[in-house]
Amino acid sequence: MTDKIEFIDLKTQYADLKQAINSRIQRVLDHGQYIMGPEVVELEQRLATHTQAKHCITVASGTEALLISLMALGVKPGDEVITTAFTFVATAEVIALLGAVPVFVDIQPDTCNIDPTLIEAAITPKTKAIIPVSLYGQVADMDEINAIAAKHGNIPVIEDAAQSFGATYKGRKTCNLSTIGCTSFFPSKPLGCYGDGGAIFTNDDSLAKAMREIRVHGQERRYYHTRIGVGGRMDTLQCAVVLGKLDRFDWEIEQRLLAGERYFKLLDSVSAVKQLAVRPDRNCIWGQFTIQIENREAVLEKLKAAGIPTAVHYPVPLHRQPAYQSLCRISGNLVNADAAAARVVSLPMHPYIDAQTQERIVKAVAEATA
Ligand SMILES: *Cc1c(COP(=O)(O)O)cnc(C)c1O
Repeated sequence: MTDKIEFIDLKTQYADLKQAINSRIQRVLDHGQYIMGPEVVELEQRLATHTQAKHCITVASGTEALLISLMALGVKPGDEVITTAFTFVATAEVIALLGAVPVFVDIQPDTCNIDPTLIEAAITPKTKAIIPVSLYGQVADMDEINAIAAKHGNIPVIEDAAQSFGATYKGRKTCNLSTIGCTSFFPSKPLGCYGDGGAIFTNDDSLAKAMREIRVHGQERRYYHTRIGVGGRMDTLQCAVVLGKLDRFDWEIEQRLLAGERYFKLLDSVSAVKQLAVRPDRNCIWGQFTIQIENREAVLEKLKAAGIPTAVHYPVPLHRQPAYQSLCRISGNLVNADAAAARVVSLPMHPYIDAQTQERIVKAVAEATA
């Protein structure tokens, strides 16, 4: 009972997959093609198959995936990109990096994903893209968002699926639900490498070509640069690590779903906890298992004393961050984002968490919120 509880257990995962991961890494060390080696192509093919998207382009990180996507869409200074203020900073950062304006609309209070009914009011002639985030591993309302984008002259929609890789929506996979899908292989994400990595998905041939060129300094062929690009490749070793984990990924998704169900049942009896709503037409693969409580700071202190690791995703919504306050535009108000930021707490979640550990965590949450 006094075993240390891990927030995300990468050590157990490595112990389990050691042979597959080590032999994948060894193969790269043997062939020595550290940049754009055969594992890069193999991973792109495997991930394209997984999502059923026509193109997969691996990139240096989830942030780079979003940046390259906006660059391929031609987002320029003064343009506007609609997104949510309740996300990891990278979603809005890439918009600002291009000199464009992040336009924030509010979230649904029960899912914490962008509220599609508020998007239309945020659209102006300057709107060049919409970036919904599939937060905590649950896909945003992509059909509704795509319909609004189509109605307003086919505004491109980029799904930020950094936390949802592996999730499904109406039987389809996250990352293949709109113009472009972006994900991250940061170690703690549902599918992680051992450093930085990410991927972009699309069914559009010309966007895929542009994104492949932008990834390598905008070159059409070696040392011939037709556009401005970045140094945005994912290295071969990181692709090898993801390949080493990929055969077990479906099993890991199942374990995440089971662990999520167990938390739901256990937390049902803790009246002080408000749980996330999961829509019946999609799953949530719990990139983070996040609940909402009042008096968060006091509760977090008690959980820490009880040996329960927690995290807050995210304590300050982006419209209140010093770097974004003056350069963003707020559409309507962001009361739900503010409320969520004050109440969210993420509990330990990974494919190897067992029922006993979850019972111990929920008991501590019940005592801390009593
Ligand atoms: C992690 C994350 C990113 C950025 O991914 P990196 O690989 O860390 O650059 C972007 N958006 C969201 C929602 C994320 O959770």
